[in-house]
Amino acid sequence: MNINKELNLSKKIIYDITRFTTLDYKDNLSCIVWFISCNMRCQYCYNSNIVLSKEGNYEIKDLFTFLEKRVGLLDAVVLSGGEATMHNLEPICKKIKAMGFKIKLDTNGLNTKLIKTLIDEKYIDYIALDFKATKDKFEEITKTNQYNKFLDTLNFLIDKNFDFEVRTTLHEELLNENDINKIVDTLVSKGYKNSLYIQNFLNVENFANLKESKKVLNKDLLSNKLNIIWRN
Ligand code: SF4
Repeated sequence: MNINKELNLSKKIIYDITRFTTLDYKDNLSCIVWFISCNMRCQYCYNSNIVLSKEGNYEIKDLFTFLEKRVGLLDAVVLSGGEATMHNLEPICKKIKAMGFKIKLDTNGLNTKLIKTLIDEKYIDYIALDFKATKDKFEEITKTNQYNKFLDTLNFLIDKNFDFEVRTTLHEELLNENDINKIVDTLVSKGYKNSLYIQNFLNVENFANLKESKKVLNKDLLSNKLNIIWRN
């Protein structure tokens, strides 16, 4: 028996469930599942409580109890965190799909193997992939040296022509215009056709105690090779 396909309903790995949102997955009424743990420690991360939790507040079976009452009311389930791919998502996604929901995955892209499996099994409908930083700043910002794993996921999604978006969180003392342009160049060179979504740093408690940036990005210096959409 393949242990990866077993559903362990009593695993307490869910930090919280946002019951309803229209904002996270375009054109879909969704709930958001916030999984504990992460394999990064991004300087600006404001979800340190989720990332560092050893145990969540909800078991997997609580999610399904909730979803059973939402069949016909919600379109989709967003898997977020933390980093959802730290967990055995395959049987969870299989059951969510069997209930008739679409699935969006938010991911930092480090678990290429699981992402490939979820896509090959047709469990995932859409992905929001974080492009955290350029290669030279990746370790400084994320505290991991796994830029190449992220690239593997990016390459896979592009080659597969999978429906996904790339997003970058901006703190101007971490990433400048040149860095954003390098990110755009990387995406364009690989054949990425969607927009790059940039979300501004939120000035709340975070891993590196970052405050609001004193620098301001000059948008006039940004490349126009890709459509950039500002999220906040
Ligand atoms: S911002 Fe970074 S550390 Fe925080 S949950 Fe996302 S990937 Fe993990």
